[in-house]
Amino acid sequence: MNTLRLLSTLALTLVVPVRAAGAQTIDLSRFALVDLTHEIAHDGPAWPGSRDPFHLDTIAASATTAMFRLNLNEHFGTHMDAPRHAAGSGWTNENIPLNRLVAPLIVIDVRAQAADNRDYALTPAEIETHERRHGRIARGAAVLLRTGWARYWSTPARYFGEDRTVQPPKLHFPSFGIEAAKLLVSRGVGLLGVDSPSTDIGAAPSFAVHGILGGANVPALENLADLDALPATGALLMALPIKTRGGSGGPVRVVALVPR
Ligand SMILES: [Zn+2]
Repeated sequence: MNTLRLLSTLALTLVVPVRAAGAQTIDLSRFALVDLTHEIAHDGPAWPGSRDPFHLDTIAASATTAMFRLNLNEHFGTHMDAPRHAAGSGWTNENIPLNRLVAPLIVIDVRAQAADNRDYALTPAEIETHERRHGRIARGAAVLLRTGWARYWSTPARYFGEDRTVQPPKLHFPSFGIEAAKLLVSRGVGLLGVDSPSTDIGAAPSFAVHGILGGANVPALENLADLDALPATGALLMALPIKTRGGSGGPVRVVALVPR
């Protein structure tokens, strides 16, 4: 089943009242559910310089009950940048339409380029190469960049590529390039994401890609987990962030539905 048929099936399921025995159901055995989310944990990589990005305060903890207060930086762990994060007029969390968060998935693979150059920034030429192989990126698609950086998640200094021999310390990790971000926005993408710390490369002098995405009301996923199980096209992405009123982003559980 292709993604569009799947979406229409999901939509039908929502509007057609379910009858008793014999009612049609979605056959999820035909799909693999892939988790693209890192655990949120105190020892996860935090943006250099950020203090106390995550901890749980115990309200109650016994053999029979548990309750904690969640203290969390919106931009820690696998999270979404709401457009407001980088643009004054952008959507905050509660205003992002669902069709930006549940969408056909396209994966651009630059693992080889990033392995050779940790400052690699996606180029328009690389997007065009992807389109020649897999077809033009459709309006409304969610586009994820696979750099391979999730494998450094448990070694934060390597994940951020921190160079402390210079002041202030420099960062080195791959992500989107400025012209590539502009091209993807011109294609009408609904959502972008990357398996590295930021939609701007670590060595970027400013957060220009953030500004382009925020200004175009394109939400972004950062710190995605391993994308290796995803096909270049044909899967469905579901990325549902916390719905805090006025939030500039927040923790998100990201799952892909991949046809078997
Ligand atoms: Zn962020």
